[in-house]
Amino acid sequence: MGGLGTSGGTWGRSTNGWSPSVWLQSAFPLLAGPFLVWFLQLACHAQYQGVHNVFDSSISAVVQAFVADPRRFFAAFLPREISAAALRIVAAWYVLLLVLTLVLPGKKGYGLKTPAGYTLEYRVNGLAVFLVAHLIVLGATYAGIISLSAVVDELNSILALANMFGVLLSVFAYIKAWTFPSYPEDNKTTGFVPYDYLMGIEFNPRLGPLDLKLFTIGRVGMISWSMLNFCFVQKQYETFGQISNSMVLTVALQLVYIVDFFVREDWYLRTVDIGHDHFGYYLAWGCSVWLIWIYSASASYLSRNLTHLAWYQIVVTLVLAAFSYLVFLQSNQQKDLYRQTNGKCNVWGKPASGLRVRYTTKDGVAHDSILLTSGWWGVARHFNYFADMIFSFSIGLATGSTHAVAYGYGINMFFLLLHRSVRDEGRCRAKYGSGWDKYCQIVKYRIFPGIY
Ligand code: NDP
Repeated sequence: MGGLGTSGGTWGRSTNGWSPSVWLQSAFPLLAGPFLVWFLQLACHAQYQGVHNVFDSSISAVVQAFVADPRRFFAAFLPREISAAALRIVAAWYVLLLVLTLVLPGKKGYGLKTPAGYTLEYRVNGLAVFLVAHLIVLGATYAGIISLSAVVDELNSILALANMFGVLLSVFAYIKAWTFPSYPEDNKTTGFVPYDYLMGIEFNPRLGPLDLKLFTIGRVGMISWSMLNFCFVQKQYETFGQISNSMVLTVALQLVYIVDFFVREDWYLRTVDIGHDHFGYYLAWGCSVWLIWIYSASASYLSRNLTHLAWYQIVVTLVLAAFSYLVFLQSNQQKDLYRQTNGKCNVWGKPASGLRVRYTTKDGVAHDSILLTSGWWGVARHFNYFADMIFSFSIGLATGSTHAVAYGYGINMFFLLLHRSVRDEGRCRAKYGSGWDKYCQIVKYRIFPGIY
């Protein structure tokens, strides 16, 4: 292993104050985010909401209708009142997730060392919560007690409620950070309120045994995404009297991704979401609304648009999905194994190579760390993101459609991971200083080998 010990000082999310670019970065997701989600879902369902003379099933038509007559547009779609049925569905679902998270057992997991020097403990029960929640809801559907397609029928009201929940949670997170933070030494603030509200001040807000970040991402976000996919399956069945092979493939591929996330939840505690991002609107609203409704766009589209895949489309999609998923898994495992064994492991059958780097926590104590430079981590600094992008694109292929909304998940992942790579590298440079620059000289490309 090459050696370089360079202290990077403290690190974490930006603490720069106001600037036009910070203002733009904050304003766009805060103002445009809810409308983008709404537009995408409208584009999937517009023709079934009694306004097919206004919109057809395309984003461009939705945008054109908005530009042509904003008042008519809002009048057609904004729910004038939240239906009681939607309120019952949302309340029951959130209570179920909360109770299961608090009562189901799980082994202990540990996050990365925070800038203030904490190593937090987590209860890793995501898989149990996922399974029991699905068992209860799918079981009740099978028994005819509830109907999953009611969620699609109440889409406008439920989306409005999800937005309210996401915004209220973000406001709560902001107030909590100033008034009763769980680990105040890890708070970060720019003094520019919109940015602090967006990117969060508190790192790991907790309410008693409940970790708000893990609950919002890993319970509300990931489990609702899966359940919403099942709601769209039932809706397709009710609409067309059949479940298409494209729907089966789309939902099955996403289910693999979601279940695997829970099987490896212990690993997830050491990723950027938990180990770097603070808890603000980006995560609170992002996982309560964006993650659930944008990631399920493909199934949402299929619930209203019947497509059938030819055998060769199934084969191409499966090959692409399987190959990209294996790379995604292997690259993440290589890094985790390398860190867990302190570099004493084999990668691709050879002893792993890497770089020793150094960082300093807020208390002034210097710590050593290691960066892998072989395996997929020698191909590009974020080849795991590349693999994830390709897998997400294969979900669009699985829909058998050429329509942009069917690729909503893939388009989202492309930009999300591109942006994430920039954020992550800024943080790593702040953490490891010249050690990170040396690493970038060894592994030259960020995501796409030979290009970027
Ligand atoms: P990474 O797994 O790439 O983790 C980045 C962190 O790993 C860095 O901050 C650094 O942390 C450490 N690191 C960077 N380079 C090296 C190296 N060469 N050797 C060892 N450690 C290194 O990113 P994420 O946590 O963002 O993502 C994990 C996976 O989750 C990815 O595959 C991604 O595609 C996926 N993902 C999926 C999302 C979704 O919504 N579906 C959203 C986000 C991610 P440090 O040194 O401080 O420990």
